[in-house]
Amino acid sequence: MEKNEIHWDEIIEEATKILSQYIQIDTTNPPGNEIEGALFLKEILKKEGFDSVILESEKGRGNIVARYKGDGSLAPLLLLHHIDVVPAEEDKWLHPPLSGKVQDGEIWGRGAFDCKYFGVIELMVLCLLKRSGFKSRRDIILLATGDEEAGGRCGVEWMVKNHFDLIRADFVINEGGVAGFCLENKNLYLCQTAEKGVCWVRLVFRGVPGHASMPDGNNCISDMAGAIQKIGNYRSRLQKSPVTTRFIEGLARKMDFIEEREAAGLFDETSSFKILDMIPEKGLKTLLNTMLRNTFVPAVAHGGKKTNVIPSECYCEIDCRMLPGEDPESIIKELKGILGGHTDFEIEILGSSSPTESRLPNVLYSTIEMCTKKQDPVATVIPFISSGATDSRFFREKGVAAYGFAPLKIEEPLSSHLEKMHGHNERISIKNLAYGIELLYDIVREFCR
Ligand SMILES: [Zn+2]
Repeated sequence: MEKNEIHWDEIIEEATKILSQYIQIDTTNPPGNEIEGALFLKEILKKEGFDSVILESEKGRGNIVARYKGDGSLAPLLLLHHIDVVPAEEDKWLHPPLSGKVQDGEIWGRGAFDCKYFGVIELMVLCLLKRSGFKSRRDIILLATGDEEAGGRCGVEWMVKNHFDLIRADFVINEGGVAGFCLENKNLYLCQTAEKGVCWVRLVFRGVPGHASMPDGNNCISDMAGAIQKIGNYRSRLQKSPVTTRFIEGLARKMDFIEEREAAGLFDETSSFKILDMIPEKGLKTLLNTMLRNTFVPAVAHGGKKTNVIPSECYCEIDCRMLPGEDPESIIKELKGILGGHTDFEIEILGSSSPTESRLPNVLYSTIEMCTKKQDPVATVIPFISSGATDSRFFREKGVAAYGFAPLKIEEPLSSHLEKMHGHNERISIKNLAYGIELLYDIVREFCR
């Protein structure tokens, strides 16, 4: 079915209703209870004639897989989204976060953006293909999982470990991209082709306890404060990677605020910050800064119980994000380097995940780029490294090309859009939902025909 043969009004109405209902299902993680979301999707899929299978990693932690059969002449494509959402502070919202309220052309609720809308778009695309009897050369797999917001242990990680045969694909489209935003009359869409690794570290400082009225210069709290300050002021070295280079070249080629010659200076310690300051969009500037280097951010400080007691121990926790090519070992080494003068401390790794990357060029990426430009003539798609982790990493670790792409066009500045993620009053416009279905439909059809 060509795009102009589809009754879009009806499709959008249908999608709006599904998203509103999907939001009303409480899949707040913890505890997740994604089974309810999976059953909801299963029911819709069944009505459309799809067999689907629900797999529970633990009681209530549902994951669901459905498949649109192709002729097998090309490798499968997997459409991924997560069912769980983060908790919401209800009293700070204008409409209850689980209301799914539709008002003034917007659908409200937790998950409207992250990322139930994406699941609904994927679902609608699959339904449209089925209804039109589309002849696909690839199997198209729909996978909705739990636990993304808490690391994916009960979701994609578990599925990849235990049921990879059901979800084996060469290509994945997932959340994680940055929706098209306007800059200098062009719309910039950021496609996530890589993500930074995470390393959470606890630093434990020890000293001799004593009465606070009798200081002798030995105080682990002061030691820790000095260390936190050093980490807070530290800037890791600039690192060049193929994605960052492509990102910067893409910006320089398309945008007027920066020349290609100047852009190269972003990798130079003396000029980097001056050039970053030339970027007129705050969100883009912050994002690019995180793509250029590892980051070390003190986030927790804990120590002492009573004002007149010098404690024997205290600790702080550091959120470290590492670029592709780094690992926890190199991060610890760098951290030790920052804390050169400090001696009485121990380092404990609380958790880590590796950085991952899907290299370019890639046929799926090119299709995303081509279809986006077709739908939005002033679109520019550029690849980026996200500093946050998504479920794509589990597929990338298996050698699958996974891309995070948001088929949307936002009208607000990027920085305020990014602030809304996991924030209050999450919502999506029906116009954007429609835009997303149309764009993803085009991408999937183009890629699978
Ligand atoms: Zn998400």
